[in-house]
Amino acid sequence: MAGSSVGWDDAVTGWPGFSPLAGDRTADACVIGLGASGLAAVEDLVGRGLSVIGLDAGRVAAGAAGRNGGFLLGGPALFLHDAIAAWGPSAVDLYRETLAELRHLKETLSPGVVRPVGSIRLAGLPGPPTDEGDAADRAAEVADCAAHAAALREHGIAVEDYDGPLGRGIFLPDDAATNPAVRATAIAARLEHRAALHENTSVRRIAAGRVVTSHGTVSAGVVVVAVDGRLDALIPSLARRVRTARLQMLTTAPVSASRLPCPVYGRHGYDYAQQGADGRLHVGGGRDRFEQAEWTASTAPTEPVQRHIEDVAARMAGGPVTVTHRWGASVGFTADGRPLCTEVAAGVVAIGGYNGTGNLVGPVAARAAVARAVDGTAPPPYFAA
Ligand SMILES: Cc1cc2nc3c(=O)[nH]c(=O)nc-3n(C[C@H](O)[C@H](O)[C@H](O)COP(=O)(O)OP(=O)(O)OC[C@H]3O[C@@H](n4cnc5c(N)ncnc54)[C@H](O)[C@@H]3O)c2cc1C
Repeated sequence: MAGSSVGWDDAVTGWPGFSPLAGDRTADACVIGLGASGLAAVEDLVGRGLSVIGLDAGRVAAGAAGRNGGFLLGGPALFLHDAIAAWGPSAVDLYRETLAELRHLKETLSPGVVRPVGSIRLAGLPGPPTDEGDAADRAAEVADCAAHAAALREHGIAVEDYDGPLGRGIFLPDDAATNPAVRATAIAARLEHRAALHENTSVRRIAAGRVVTSHGTVSAGVVVVAVDGRLDALIPSLARRVRTARLQMLTTAPVSASRLPCPVYGRHGYDYAQQGADGRLHVGGGRDRFEQAEWTASTAPTEPVQRHIEDVAARMAGGPVTVTHRWGASVGFTADGRPLCTEVAAGVVAIGGYNGTGNLVGPVAARAAVARAVDGTAPPPYFAA
């Protein structure tokens, strides 16, 4: 499939960019990866009065952090009831931490960057079931939505039943939407004068106290590696714990206004769409349908996945769509669904493996990584140390 461009980037206007690292430098801390997670680590470290150098191989949020669905959802990739079943009560603690991170974003970013519109989890996709199998899956998913809602209610987290023009499911009023590229560049701009941030600086080797890049070596006692996709390539010792996959999306020309009042995800969250204020849809999905082919470090969009997402887009739009942008990006998956927050060398803590849902969990992991590296505090049990 020819070419790739990212629908979100149209709104990143006037980004001045940061210069590459210029030779060897020393700081208290070095953060590798300037996506939303790495930027949260930078924010936490400068808040502690430490000098910080942040590095990214490309632009700020050149990876998934600037190329995702822009869903700001409470909790990890697993729905709350599934996460509790898998990890125990600490899953609820992580859910609360992600909501706290979302409140922090709303408080610190300009109005409009975070849209506090909630989210809808649908059973199936909008429109009638495609066949008997789809109808049966949808009935099972209605029951799963009820179990999901029960777990949220039991822990005092807001949820409402949804039965509306898009179908049946649940509405989560605490969730929000963002343009992820705008979110990350806005955070980087806020931090610009408090830390030395460098783009187009690829890290080649990491050791205790030393980060070797294409443009010089950084010496720092604390190193946070905030790379979700391709973490296994950057730190080969983690290759058995985190695996890189590609996820793909597309953007459409504007469709009927207010078709999607908030981020919508259906088919157990595998297919998803968000409508921007300009009426365009940003749509992704199909991870379950193309799992084997998508275990790759390539970020090029592919025809079979894009065809599936185009179908999802038409269902979400309620009619045919015109696609204007198509792209892919890398994310990390872990075997038990718990993200990593792990010390890989003295003072070097790596985070990642958010299983496709790192917009809020990533910054929570970043703060845990800083606490691990600076204070020696063990990460909470919802992270794999
Ligand atoms: C298509 C898609 C849709 C998604 N939708 C959602 C969603 O709606 N909600 C949600 O919560 N999550 C979603 N995710 C997952 C989410 O995007 C990621 O979990 C999250 O963005 C990870 O952010 P990060 O900052 O940890 O890492 P990344 O975004 O992976 O950032 C890592 C940064 O490190 C840099 N880097 C990599 N290697 C090096 C190196 N050697 N040297 C220097 N820099 C390096 C990269 O350039 C990049 O900027 C989606 C992901 C994709 C791909």
